[in-house]
Amino acid sequence: MLEYDDRIAVAVSGGKDSISLLHILTKMELEYPKASLVAVTVDEGIEGYRDEALRIAARNCRKLNIEHHIISFKELYSYSLDEIVRHLKEEGRNKLTPCAYCGVLRRKALNIVARDVNADKVATAHTLDDETQTILLNIFHGDLSRLARGKPITDQVHPKLMPRAKPFCQIPEKETALYAYIRKIQFQGIPCPYASEAMRNDMRLFLSRMEEKHAGTKFAVFKSMERIRPAIEKMFKRERLRKCIRCGEPTVGNICRACEMLLQLFDA
Ligand SMILES: [Zn+2]
Repeated sequence: MLEYDDRIAVAVSGGKDSISLLHILTKMELEYPKASLVAVTVDEGIEGYRDEALRIAARNCRKLNIEHHIISFKELYSYSLDEIVRHLKEEGRNKLTPCAYCGVLRRKALNIVARDVNADKVATAHTLDDETQTILLNIFHGDLSRLARGKPITDQVHPKLMPRAKPFCQIPEKETALYAYIRKIQFQGIPCPYASEAMRNDMRLFLSRMEEKHAGTKFAVFKSMERIRPAIEKMFKRERLRKCIRCGEPTVGNICRACEMLLQLFDA
């Protein structure tokens, strides 16, 4: 996933998975003099939640002597997530959850900040649990193109889109938690106040129950997908990317999903 001379932007939210990833990559990086690490955090603007996570992320970076860059929704999109959620409540007609907005906006922000710090790759702390939940969710939603694209290391399809690597994709979440506890690493323990992905929660419960009864279930789901994916990938032609007419970022249509969402919300 990672090359000896990569400049790696580690996406650090402040939770146990991303802080553990930062600690482990920092340790590994010492053996690769041509590689470098930089921590990046997206500040969605969630009062009472993200501010604490930011302090924890910053403290860990200082301790590890890693440079830390923060990009906020407010500076990038003119609205914080709190403001978006407040607006959603006032409108009262929107079907999308805060997670749906946050997911799209965070993905774009992460790509921009990683590019700004001249990274070659973005490393995210998605664990085996996250990956198997996503695989099943995509199957349940019938979203085969997402299933094909959700690789542990994504291809670079455009010079402005950073490849994304998931070094923890075969590490159970319990083990990243255990690592953080044993190493006495400080992380944020409280969940996001807007967390509302009901179906993902169902998948989490289902997979945990299966894993308890039939050890190895999560690995089996992950490995099966790795074997099936090349066949599914062939079903989808790579679409030519254009420039978003509003922000200039690469997108398949005329306007990127993030700009489309914001326009629908605030300029309709
Ligand atoms: Zn755009």
